Amino acid sequence: MNNGKWNQLLTQWREKFRRFMVGRYGSDELNQCLVWVFIAILFVRIFIHSGIWYWLEMAVIVVIYYRMFSKNTSQRFKENQRYLNLRFRVTEWAKGVRSGKWKEDLEEVKKYKIFKCPNCGQKIRIPRGHGKVSVHCRKCGHDFIGRT
Ligand SMILES: [Zn+2]
Repeated sequence: MNNGKWNQLLTQWREKFRRFMVGRYGSDELNQCLVWVFIAILFVRIFIHSGIWYWLEMAVIVVIYYRMFSKNTSQRFKENQRYLNLRFRVTEWAKGVRSGKWKEDLEEVKKYKIFKCPNCGQKIRIPRGHGKVSVHCRKCGHDFIGRT
């Protein structure tokens, strides 16, 4: 076969694929992440020869293709949104760990006790170590007894 024929064939296949993908979901951030998971498992499998990893890899590839060719685009979109939310929370959490904010949080937990107003649910911060105290809710004016 000469080059022209190959190009023609390639164009034909590309067109077929394009038509096949009409109305289908395609790729998104979640699928990109799954591809990385797939590559990670591939690496693990170099060192660990276990059937579980093989099946895990197969499962990941099935999910990738299933999502890519799915016609239920709204459901796939929702999944991607959930993934993006989770990713956002994880990166925010990682930022907090790196900045040492968790140490401040821990100090605060040690110094203060958080009460929840039984009447309106408002959170109230009271310094620890004062025994039984009367807690006043500033939001609804309710008073209750709390142990600090
Ligand atoms: Zn209240």
